[in-house]
Amino acid sequence: ESTLNLAQRLARPELLTLEPYQSARRIGGHGDIWINANESPFNHTDLPRLNRYPECQPPALIAAYSRYVGVASQRIVCSRGADEAIELLIRTFCIPGKDSIALFGPTYGMYGISARTFNVGVVSMSLTSDYGLPDDLSAVKGCKLVYICNPNNPTGTLLSPGVIEKVLETLPEQLVVVDEAYIEFSPEYSVINLLDKYPNLVILRTLSKAFALAGARCGFTLASADIIAMIMLVIAPYPVPLPVSLLAEQALSAEGVAQMRADVKRLRQQGQRLAECLEQLGARVLPSGANFVQAYFDDIQTVAQGLKDAGIVARAYKDPRLADAIRFSYSDEHETEQIIAALENILN
Ligand code: PMP
Repeated sequence: ESTLNLAQRLARPELLTLEPYQSARRIGGHGDIWINANESPFNHTDLPRLNRYPECQPPALIAAYSRYVGVASQRIVCSRGADEAIELLIRTFCIPGKDSIALFGPTYGMYGISARTFNVGVVSMSLTSDYGLPDDLSAVKGCKLVYICNPNNPTGTLLSPGVIEKVLETLPEQLVVVDEAYIEFSPEYSVINLLDKYPNLVILRTLSKAFALAGARCGFTLASADIIAMIMLVIAPYPVPLPVSLLAEQALSAEGVAQMRADVKRLRQQGQRLAECLEQLGARVLPSGANFVQAYFDDIQTVAQGLKDAGIVARAYKDPRLADAIRFSYSDEHETEQIIAALENILN
């Protein structure tokens, strides 16, 4: 038992002896005529080799993400958005009907929902009144996975890397999953530098937010090579469609990354403008490290109805701590202008 690594100790035991599906791409081969995967020989598209199955983890895409984050390729998995990564971790490590995950709410809904769809328990702790982690983590001690969202959705609030490091130290035999879906908007808060130091750290990333590719469905898991190897036993044979990997590679090129950084700067400016306007109009605004802001209003119904009437679709939350608040995603200059005009019209 002592020879098992952390990922093997935490994984569902049946995975340790599972022979993974031998897909055509996994087995591979050498030759000019490929008749091993029941594919069509005809490519009727402009995309090269679209008639063929893609690689499970397209090497050029993984290399591009590796370059972008400065993390070795064998520590990266690409999946159908971060949402699939959330689910893959649960399927890899949690025994249905027995194990649990932990989360700190209010937070992103899919951690709890993914767990429940697999009959995995959810230990839900409350963030403190200033949106920090609780001091006493004894309630999450038995959980296989501890999800921390930073910046947190839907509050936009940030935890310092030092706080997360303390959790990593407190829970060495559990996986601490830090969801950094919005980290490009607050890059200095990333815990990516801690990957080498903590074998229990898992980081989730996505191209859906700052990289402007929500429609492509492309997310990444960063973790120890042992954890990645375990996830690879559970992931689908071909989880990354070829067109997605081509688009994602483009987004991760030097040009693409420069575009992303320019977009982030622009969106943060518009967010600041929106937040200032909201405060001037009497709303209380949570400090945000993401590309959205929660604003609390005295008369939430009037604001919600007014936005609706103006054709502006914002998001309200049922969580009691957010019941009087509306979440506004940052937009471009033109739409921000319209949103501000609508808010002034409603609140003045
Ligand atoms: N994590 C968080 C915190 C999110 O807000 C979202 C998207 N709403 C996701 C993960 C899912 O991202 P993806 O589009 O990559 O599945």
